Amino acid sequence: MCEKRLVEGRKKVRVTKLCPPGICINLLGFMFTRNNKWIDDKVINHELIHTAQMKELWVLPFYILYLLEWTIKFFKYLNWHKAYRNISFEREAYTHGDDFDYLTYRRPMAWRMFL
Ligand SMILES: [Zn+2]
Repeated sequence: MCEKRLVEGRKKVRVTKLCPPGICINLLGFMFTRNNKWIDDKVINHELIHTAQMKELWVLPFYILYLLEWTIKFFKYLNWHKAYRNISFEREAYTHGDDFDYLTYRRPMAWRMFL
């Protein structure tokens, strides 16, 4: 079950020079990266968790809340990376990124537990 999800996830990786190096950006369920050599199953699973978060928030509110929370955390920590890692969506995705069955038992809006 989870292998099928990872296979489908890998098909949604898009390589583009428009993406900054070393990151993977999930836009509407597609994963954009400059170089896909570092994209392993854990990264795919992380991004699929973001896709689940996105779907349950009907996409646009996900991005609005993501940017809002990053802004609040940036002013709290005054550190770009620390703000990013403490966004509730990221905390959920990093916490469960190596649990390939997570999406089978994840509760709706589980990211709220990481606020
Ligand atoms: Zn992420």
